[in-house]
Amino acid sequence: MTERAYVGRLAPSPTGALHLGNARTFMIAWLRARSQGGKVVFRMEDLDHPRDKPGAATAAVEDLRWLGFDWDAEYVQSERRPFYREALEKLITAGRAYPCVCSRRDVETAQSAPHDGEQLFYPGICRGRFATWNAAVDHLRAQGAARIPCWRFRVDEGEKVAFRDAFAGDFEQDVARTLGDFPLARDEFGAGYTLAVAVDDAAMGVTEVVRGDDLLAATPAQVLVCRALGIEPPAYCHVPLVVGEDGRRLAKRHGDTRIASYRAAGMRPEEIIGRLAATCGWGDGEPTSLRNLLNVFTLDTIPHIPAVWRT
Ligand code: GLU
Repeated sequence: MTERAYVGRLAPSPTGALHLGNARTFMIAWLRARSQGGKVVFRMEDLDHPRDKPGAATAAVEDLRWLGFDWDAEYVQSERRPFYREALEKLITAGRAYPCVCSRRDVETAQSAPHDGEQLFYPGICRGRFATWNAAVDHLRAQGAARIPCWRFRVDEGEKVAFRDAFAGDFEQDVARTLGDFPLARDEFGAGYTLAVAVDDAAMGVTEVVRGDDLLAATPAQVLVCRALGIEPPAYCHVPLVVGEDGRRLAKRHGDTRIASYRAAGMRPEEIIGRLAATCGWGDGEPTSLRNLLNVFTLDTIPHIPAVWRT
């Protein structure tokens, strides 16, 4: 038996300018692939319309190229809607997807225990309630509600997901108990993150997903979607995020950490890569290139705590 060749991916969302935090995660993802002779897929995740910023997609590509990234294939999610729709139809036919009219407030009210995370538990209020999407739309219209329904995934009792993450280690989630029937897509045709990511990673032959550990808890839902579609899920490697000195996730309040701003200020890509590499234990911050890091790359020296960026 031969092992499948490694295929990794860079999957930015055009919701803002590429900053140091994104760059560090992409650096790890790219090195993980290239250091074992693997391929890299670039995928623009532009389905999140209210949050997408015009021009951010092109700018992210420019920033990544300037930093020295390359890739072997390029995809744009908004051009792939027919694939998501096809997958959604499969799930509907299999009884694994149903329309839901609940508002966030409805879901909050239905919590049996206070929830601290972003993900709320959904106890299946709309399961079996509407025969079609249009029936759900009519229901909301009759109530005078301005929102549209969403599609939810039916999680069966006892459905658990366990996997060994290459960085975070063993991870297990009892999805039926912690998440319940999670949202699959927020439009009629299935173009939503959870469904799209499962469909795309499979279609693009991605063998391992390297991304920020803010998505670790969202992974089991993606694995269940893969299973329901008969897709083998990729392997996972979730790495810590970059935070400011106050311990909070890198953001505007920590000053301007946009790659484009460093570039405009005359910084060289090697200086940025060198400093980011130092946060992974590869060197002392001396300027270097992505290619030079291929020789020293290892996950073993990356701290298992968020990287603190000191300005
Ligand atoms: N596009 C997502 C983001 O930028 C990443 C999704 C993923 O890596 O699965 O946050």
